[in-house]
Amino acid sequence: VGSVENGTTHRCDMRAGKSLLDAHNRPLRDLRISVTDRCNMRCRYCMPREVFGSDFAFLARVDILTYEEIDRLVGLFTSLGVRKIRLSGGEPLLRKNLSDLISMLSLRDVEIAMTTNGVLLPRYAPALSAAGLDRVTVSLDALDEATFAAITDSGHTVAAVLAGIEAAESVGLGPIKINTVVKRGANEDEIIDLVERFSSRDIATRFIEYMDVGTTNGWAMDEVVTANEIRNLIGDLEPIDPTHHGEVAKRYRLPQGGEVGLITSVTEPFCGDCSRARLSVDGHLYTCLFAGGGLDLLTPMRLGANDEQILSLISGCWQEREDRYSEVRSNHPSTETRVEMSFIGG
Ligand code: SAM
Ligand code: SF4
Ligand code: SF4
Repeated sequence: VGSVENGTTHRCDMRAGKSLLDAHNRPLRDLRISVTDRCNMRCRYCMPREVFGSDFAFLARVDILTYEEIDRLVGLFTSLGVRKIRLSGGEPLLRKNLSDLISMLSLRDVEIAMTTNGVLLPRYAPALSAAGLDRVTVSLDALDEATFAAITDSGHTVAAVLAGIEAAESVGLGPIKINTVVKRGANEDEIIDLVERFSSRDIATRFIEYMDVGTTNGWAMDEVVTANEIRNLIGDLEPIDPTHHGEVAKRYRLPQGGEVGLITSVTEPFCGDCSRARLSVDGHLYTCLFAGGGLDLLTPMRLGANDEQILSLISGCWQEREDRYSEVRSNHPSTETRVEMSFIGG
């Protein structure tokens, strides 16, 4: 099950109020959890249908973390400093009885957020909110139905996502944020419409630079609409100070009220503040979105490892962490192995 010799030391450090730090002095604060590798959409930049088609082998139920295992790991991660959990996927709302997991996590000292494509929110938002989900981020790349259909390559509609946003708002899952990946030639002409639609409702839209995550989306730099281009397009943006260390989006106030965010992972990387770990569907700990592999926690847990032993594995892994992929992107060959985003949670 791995070495336990440092387990007690790490625990003592945490009890003394010291943060667990990685090799670049970054604390562990956020945990993103992929609860399923399946999705009801096939966004071209994430799960292209040619790869994730009807014959794709998704994980079997026995190979994915149970809710009890996730809850146990969240308890251990919080003892190491994690304060925010984000449930993601794949599409998290495809996992059966997700509100049961949220009920369990709500007893822990963490904020619980979720990223979703939104179409199942009308069905599940009330139960999720009642179970203790704090807020949702809804992904929406276009308001125009034809553009949306071309990007998401599924039978779902913008109208369904908007209904999901309404449903989340009505049960208090706010402040809601919108995630929009901007890809050249696909949806840059949607930016202004999205800003206008949501700023008037006090919902922040966050524009994300198209990333070279995974190896299946055929990413090319010239398809990235840069944060600078987006800033110039929107114009008249007043920067807002970050509310906390390690905030992912650069935030701006709009002259008409409301705000937008830019997630500038490609052209203005923010690895220096990255306090995020990721837990894959099959229980591996990844310390970077662009990692080629992760640390297996599922096997030791199922072999009977105790909490000290699992804590030692997690803290040892974090202390060795040197990742800063986005800052050194050009040093990485495009052929290298990288895990898919649906597997580790965006
Ligand atoms: N299915 C859910 C959804 O779409 O919100 C959650 C999982 S999805 C992987 C999480 C986020 O990652 C989404 O906002 C999605 O737009 C973003 N994403 C996926 N692939 C991306 C890429 N290549 N570049 C930038 N963002 C990406
Ligand atoms: Fe599914 Fe979300 Fe990926 Fe789109 S971005 S394919 S909705 S997991
Ligand atoms: Fe964090 Fe890796 Fe992204 Fe850098 S590239 S911000 S280390 S997840």
